[in-house]
Amino acid sequence: MATGAKYYHSCINCGGINTDTRNEKGLPCEKCLEDDHLTENVFELLKGRGLLKDYQIYWNFHQSYKMFEKFFELIFHKPMTGYQRTWARRFLLSKSFTLVAPTGVGKTTFGLVASLFSALHGKKSALVFPTISLAQQSFERLNQFKSKIQNADAIRILLFNSSMTKSEKEEFEQRFLSQDFEILIVSSQFISKRKDVLSKMFFNLVFVDDVDAILKSSKNIDTLLQMIGFSEDEIEKATERLKNKNKEDGQDTSLNTFKDKGILIVSSATAKPQGLKPLLFR
Ligand SMILES: [Zn+2]
Repeated sequence: MATGAKYYHSCINCGGINTDTRNEKGLPCEKCLEDDHLTENVFELLKGRGLLKDYQIYWNFHQSYKMFEKFFELIFHKPMTGYQRTWARRFLLSKSFTLVAPTGVGKTTFGLVASLFSALHGKKSALVFPTISLAQQSFERLNQFKSKIQNADAIRILLFNSSMTKSEKEEFEQRFLSQDFEILIVSSQFISKRKDVLSKMFFNLVFVDDVDAILKSSKNIDTLLQMIGFSEDEIEKATERLKNKNKEDGQDTSLNTFKDKGILIVSSATAKPQGLKPLLFR
């Protein structure tokens, strides 16, 4: 419970002194804004007075979260689950992370929606599934979702299916190499088979469904990291940091300390997937 106590460095906008009462209401300090109840206008008021500082960051996030929420409800006609809301926040903050949750709470669904949302914002995604049939199913679901959304017609979804005819395979190859897609759907096997090409591409989002299969090979981990913009050098550095972690106490060794990278989201049935764990699962 808020008591009206003042705290240093706690104003959401200027970083100055603010009371817990105001913080609890999501209000900046009195110097930033005199009003004592929260309205949708905080952003406009601060901006109008030329006092807009860090509140902008909070506001941008808040806006994109509301957009994502609406987007989800447009497709499913129901709100996100509690798990999905948490994942949505991390995703919108551009954080790499793991989805560990029981089956049926919508892990795969979340990955599909996130890729579609990214595509609408001009971003590229890769969705990786343990089997071709799961990849195929997701391709079909994604197309269903797409049909429920305005302005989504132009989104190009490319699926790799090993049972394609020769001419289909040729068409896939051409589109794959020229990156003629916003969303690429493949199997784990594809990641190891085509690592040379994939490692040179950049994806804003890589979503790996049921990551445990793919983690059996450490080469695959490198490929996934390269797909979100890590160079071999950076991967080595990250690994090196991990080894020295105990010496340099308190240093953040997770992927999220690197700037200008894509997002890697992996779903796992076990709480501690091997290999990637130290990088992602802190
Ligand atoms: Zn302030």
